[in-house]
Amino acid sequence: MDGIYQRSLDGDITRDDALSLIESNPFQLFEVADRLRKEIVGDEVTFVVNRNIDITDQCMIKCAFCSFRNSIGYEMTIEEILESVREAKDAGATEICIFGGVMPHMDVDYYSEIIGSIKRNFDIELHALSPVEIYHTARASEMSTFDTLKSLKKAGLDTLTGASAEILVDQVRDQICPDKVKTEQWINIIKEAHKLGIPTTSTIMYGTVETWSDRIDHLLILRDIQRETGGFTELVPMTFLNENNMAGSRSAGVSGMEDLMLHALARVILGRDIPNIQASWIKIGTRMAQVALCCGANDLGGTMMEDKISIAAGASHGEYLPLMEMNKIIKAIGRIPVQRTTTYGRV
Ligand code: SF4
Repeated sequence: MDGIYQRSLDGDITRDDALSLIESNPFQLFEVADRLRKEIVGDEVTFVVNRNIDITDQCMIKCAFCSFRNSIGYEMTIEEILESVREAKDAGATEICIFGGVMPHMDVDYYSEIIGSIKRNFDIELHALSPVEIYHTARASEMSTFDTLKSLKKAGLDTLTGASAEILVDQVRDQICPDKVKTEQWINIIKEAHKLGIPTTSTIMYGTVETWSDRIDHLLILRDIQRETGGFTELVPMTFLNENNMAGSRSAGVSGMEDLMLHALARVILGRDIPNIQASWIKIGTRMAQVALCCGANDLGGTMMEDKISIAAGASHGEYLPLMEMNKIIKAIGRIPVQRTTTYGRV
C-alpha cells in the first residue's frame, strides 16, 4: 500500500488503482486512508452548528430513491422560515441549509425573497439549493443558469450545496432520477457557481443500482472539477436509505463495510484535492461515523436540528446532535473537535 499512499499524496491515483483497491483487503484500504487523513488534515475533526430547513416536500421531479416527496405536502411561509432561523440562531447555529422539492413557481424572485429575508434579518451563513434547483429556477425565470446564480448570490446566497449529484453516470441517473439534471448539466452548473465565487460541497449518493466502477468514475469527475475550479469545500458521502421509496424494492442499501470502503476510497482518490471528507452521522449513525472517521473521514457534518428527508427514508439516528455531543463523540476516538464555518474557517 506504500505505492498507493504516495500516489494519493502526489495526486496520481488512477482508475485502475481505485479498482484494484476494491479487490484488495478492506482493512489495508482503511489503514492507508487513515494514514492519508493524518498526513493531509491531521487529527482535528470538524463540525458545523447548523439547521436544515426543508421548505417544501412538494416536488415535480419524482426521483426513485426519494422518500420525502409528497404531492399533497406542505410549503413553509417566509414567516415560518424566519422563525426556524431564529430558533437556530438561539441554539448557536452559524449556518442555515435550505432544502426542499422543486415546483414550477419557484423562480428567481421566489428564492431571492427567501434568501434576502433571511440575510436581512440574521447574520448567518446561507448554504442552499443545488444544481437541480438552479436548473429549474433558471427555466421558470427564462434566464441562464449563470445569471440565475448571479442573482441568487446578489440576494445573499453564500454557498450552494452539491446535492443532486447522486451518481454522475447517466446510465445510473436514467434508472434512479431520469427527470433530474444530467451529469453534464450538474457539472456545468457547479463550475458556473465556482466561477462566480460561490463555493459548493460535493456529494455522492451511493447504494442504489450503481457499481463500484460507477462510484469511482463519479469521484474522479469530482477530482477533475476541483483541479479546474478549486470550489469544492468537502465531499459528503450519503448512503442510500431504502424505506418508503421506489428504489427500495431494488436495493436494501449497502453494508456497513461498504460504507467504510466508500469513505476510505474517497480519501485515497481525492487526496489533497478535496481534503475534507464528511462522515454523515444522520445517515450512518454516530457509532459508524466514529469508525468512518478512523477510515479516512475528518468531518462530522452538522448538528442539523431537523432532517425530514433522511427521517422519511428510514434514518433512525435522531435529528439533532448538540455541540456538546459532537465534542464527546469526537473525543471518544482520541481526536480533537473543532467547530467550523460552512467553508471550513474556524468559529
Ligand atoms: S430527491 Fe429532491 S428532486 Fe428528487 S424527488 Fe426528492 S425532493 Fe424532488
